[in-house]
Amino acid sequence: MRLAPRLLGAAVLLGCAASAAAHVGHGVPRAGRSSAAGVPLDLYERHAAGSAVRHAKVARRRRSPAATAPTSEAQEAAITDETDACTPYSIPEVSALEGTFPTVWEIADILPGDVQAQGVWSAIQKSGIIPKSVKPKGTPDGDFDSFTPTYDQSNPDCWWTYEHCDVPKHPGIPDDIVGCPEPSTYGLTFDDGPNCTQQVLYDYLRDQKQKATMFYIGSNVMDWPLQAQRGLVDGHDICVHTWSHRYMTSLNDTQVFAELYYTAKAIKDVMGITVQCWRPPFGDVDDRVRAIATGLGLATIIWTDDTDDWQMKPAGKKSQKAIDRNYAAIIAGENSQKGNIVLAHELNNGTMHEFISQYPNIKARFDHVVPVFSCMNNTKPYLEDITYPSFEEYIAGGVASGLPGPDIKAVSTTYAPVLAQATSAASQQSAGAAGATKQNSTAAGKQSDQSAADGQKKSSASPAYSAFGAAMAVAGCGAVALMATL
Ligand SMILES: [Zn+2]
Repeated sequence: MRLAPRLLGAAVLLGCAASAAAHVGHGVPRAGRSSAAGVPLDLYERHAAGSAVRHAKVARRRRSPAATAPTSEAQEAAITDETDACTPYSIPEVSALEGTFPTVWEIADILPGDVQAQGVWSAIQKSGIIPKSVKPKGTPDGDFDSFTPTYDQSNPDCWWTYEHCDVPKHPGIPDDIVGCPEPSTYGLTFDDGPNCTQQVLYDYLRDQKQKATMFYIGSNVMDWPLQAQRGLVDGHDICVHTWSHRYMTSLNDTQVFAELYYTAKAIKDVMGITVQCWRPPFGDVDDRVRAIATGLGLATIIWTDDTDDWQMKPAGKKSQKAIDRNYAAIIAGENSQKGNIVLAHELNNGTMHEFISQYPNIKARFDHVVPVFSCMNNTKPYLEDITYPSFEEYIAGGVASGLPGPDIKAVSTTYAPVLAQATSAASQQSAGAAGATKQNSTAAGKQSDQSAADGQKKSSASPAYSAFGAAMAVAGCGAVALMATL
C-alpha cells in the first residue's frame, strides 16, 4: 500500500525535529585516512574523480564548434555518433544568458550587480534558518585532514560526510530523503548530467518506458542545454547538483547559495521549470548547507546504495567486474520491507552502458524501479503546472502531463523559488507519522538479503521521509511560504 500524502505531510513535520539521533556510517575518518574499523574510505578517491570530471570539461570546451551544430532538442536527441554529440555547439538563446551566470566550472558566487540573486539571498539570511554555529570545513576538493582531528565527534553539524548523518540537528531543516519508502523498490538516480553522450542512456530508458531522477550540474546545463532539455522532455525527474561540483561544506555561505541558486536558475531559463530538490556532490552536506538549500525550497536527496560506477576504467581505476559486483550486492539487497535509492552516474559511456547491462537484473529482482518523485508520491515537483505520476500511477504505466515538447526553447526569465521563512513555530512538531509503516503483499514472499540490506540506513517505518520544496516550506518546520518577487 502506498504511503498516503497526508502521512507524508505529517512526516514532514516530524522530519523537522532537531534530532540528536546518532548514525554510524562511513565517511571522513576522525583522524587520518581510515575509519575506526581501519577500512580505507573512498572520499579521497571521490575527490580525485571530481577533479577528473572538471578537467575533462575544461578540455572539451576548448574544441571548435561543429559546422553543423544542432539547434533544437529534437535535433540533438537524434545524434547517435558520440563525437558529433560531444562537439560543442552554441544556440543564441543560451548564449544570450551567459553574462547572467558565473563562469562554468568555477566556484559560483553572487554576481556583482545581480539584484535578484541578492534579494533572494537577503531573504534567506533574514529568515534565520542558517545555523551560525556551523562553519565551513576542509577544502573545495575534499581535503578535510586539517579539520576532522578537532571536530566534535558527536557530529553537531550533522555532517553527512563524517558519519552519514541525515537527520538535521538544527531546527527548521527537513531530514534528507535517503531511500524510497516503498518495499522492493529501486530508486533510480543518475548524477552529473546532462552528458553530451547521454543518448545511449536516454534512448534505452525511453525504449524501456523507464524514468529516472537526474541530478544536473549547472555548468553542464549551460554547456549542453539541448541535452538538459531532453531530460525534461523525456519525462525524467530534474534536480540540482550544484554549479561546479565541489565539496559544498567547504564553501562560504554566499558560495553555497550561489552554487544552488545559479544551477536552479539555469534549469529555469533553459528548461522552464523551478526545481525543488538537490543532491550534494559526494554527499557532502551539513546543517549549514542544508539550511541554505531549504531556504531555496530545495529538498536534500542522498542515497542508500552507491554503485561506485564512476570508478570504472578507463576514467577510474576499477574493473567493470568490480562494478558488476557492486550492482550485484545492491540487487541482492532487495528488501521486502523497504526500498532504496541508488546512486549511479551519467558520467561517461562506460557508466551508462554498465547500468544498461545491469538493468535486466534489477528489473528481475525488484518489484518496482522508479524515479524519486514517484517513489515519494510527489506529483507536483516543480512550481509550474506539470503533474508527475504518483507511485501507484507510475507503476501502472502513468507518465507526467504538462511537459514541454521537442520545441522547448531557453528563455531568460525570473527564477522565483519558494523561500522558507523560519518562525518561532519551527520548534513545533507532530507525532502523526509514526505509524507510516507499509506492507506490500507482492513483495512479502521475496527473499531479502539482510547483510546487504544492513547497508540501508532507513527503514520504511521511519518518519524521516520529507516531502519536497513548497510542501516542505509550507507544512514543515512552521515555515511560511512566499513567492519571491525579487
Ligand atoms: Zn556528482
